[in-house]
Amino acid sequence: MLIYNSLSHKKEEFIPVDNTVKLYSCGPTVYSYAHIGNLRTYVLTDWLKRVLIYNGYNLKHAMNITDVGHLTSDADSGEDKMEKAAKEQGKTAWEIAEHYAQVFFSDLKKLNTLPADIIAKATDHIQEDIALINELEKQGFTYRTSDGIYFDTSKFKEYGVLTGLSWEQLNNSLKGGARIELSEEKKNITDFSLWKFSPANEKRQMEWPSPWGVGFPGWHIECSAINLKYLADAFENDIFYPEKAKTIDFHTGGIDLLPIHHTNEIAQVEPITHKPFIKYWVHGEFLIIKGGRMAKSEGGGLTLSTLIEKGYDPLIYRYFLLNAHYRTKMEFDYEGLDAANNSLSSLRELVWNLKNKNDVSTDLDLSNYQKDFKEAVNDDLNLPKALSIVWTAIKEYKKQPEQYSSKKTLTMILDFDKVLGLDLDNWQPAEIPEEIKDLAEKRNQLRLEKKYAEADEIRIQIEKMGYSLKDNGSTIDIQKI
Ligand SMILES: [Zn+2]
Repeated sequence: MLIYNSLSHKKEEFIPVDNTVKLYSCGPTVYSYAHIGNLRTYVLTDWLKRVLIYNGYNLKHAMNITDVGHLTSDADSGEDKMEKAAKEQGKTAWEIAEHYAQVFFSDLKKLNTLPADIIAKATDHIQEDIALINELEKQGFTYRTSDGIYFDTSKFKEYGVLTGLSWEQLNNSLKGGARIELSEEKKNITDFSLWKFSPANEKRQMEWPSPWGVGFPGWHIECSAINLKYLADAFENDIFYPEKAKTIDFHTGGIDLLPIHHTNEIAQVEPITHKPFIKYWVHGEFLIIKGGRMAKSEGGGLTLSTLIEKGYDPLIYRYFLLNAHYRTKMEFDYEGLDAANNSLSSLRELVWNLKNKNDVSTDLDLSNYQKDFKEAVNDDLNLPKALSIVWTAIKEYKKQPEQYSSKKTLTMILDFDKVLGLDLDNWQPAEIPEEIKDLAEKRNQLRLEKKYAEADEIRIQIEKMGYSLKDNGSTIDIQKI
């Protein structure tokens, strides 16, 4: 299995660290609804998991929920997103977190993603954060300013390795670029906060005591701490043993997290464990709408609920996402979603019909397509290609269905769906009302009696009631229009 590794900037053969593949994905900051661009990244993680399982690997997947410490600017300034939303909505920060986390999990379920084995809230891991910051301090990687404890990036030689730039290049490029708000006491532009002090004149809703003063963790520390605890096994009885940390196989996230958040996650771990933190970094590209990136902060607010309100089943969005490789930007529009709807409907009906068909032949099967399918998904998750293989196989079947075993064809498509995740096996056509069924039966009878004009009138009546009749050779299918 080949996967593109952001760390080496090339496709690499996947070689697991040990028997169980460890995978971490950055979860949402639960201060508002996830938009469909965010959800693209979570579906990517799901596809990676499914492909690993398809290849026979055991998996352990951990995901965090950021419910504290993410400031409105990723560069350690501005308000805490949670506290800001709480003020705006007249709720507590805890209520805000709970509400948006529940909606997020419900979205993931609607998109048929496999649940994570471990869900870790940032606010439940403050002690682990403190243990990690303590160790970084002990080994000389931190300094104190008036507003918090900072990581000194000049002390970590490999800082910025994910970006492909050296520490000097990164700092110089940032100096030359747009002005960033800098705490005057920060030594280097790339330095970032590990622990922030609560403002002296303000009581925060979320704050904790620490060896450095009352405050809250920086945004990046939770992901390192949660990784070290649940996947790298570096905590024993709540005591942190950096030298025991194991390398983790995968870390996924949106491409926007690479330059700062993921870069800082590495910096918080590798200088004290002295081994690679993550073996393969997998980043998903943006979903674009009307020429702009769909960031919440930029006002792009299309959510899964918006699509559902417009009558789209969430799995149509999942099918839509199959059309672009995860490392390419994808443009969202409703024409694309309608096309996805049509394709998914055909696929569902085919599966339904295959289930209800008696085998006419057991001679031929289409298993040769399974090899091509597996090759495509194992080539850096080439799902657009895999999907085209599914359709080629279906076309082949439809040319002469009597030649193929319907059971084997069904088994093959359901096997493909273990990766695609379209939940084809559980789909059922909408219930047809008895009244419509009776009319269709009556029409059938009239046709047998060769009373075609009368039969046609009934067909028109059925269509007026919102159903269509499709002649399927031996049977007549009734469908909702
Ligand atoms: Zn993270």
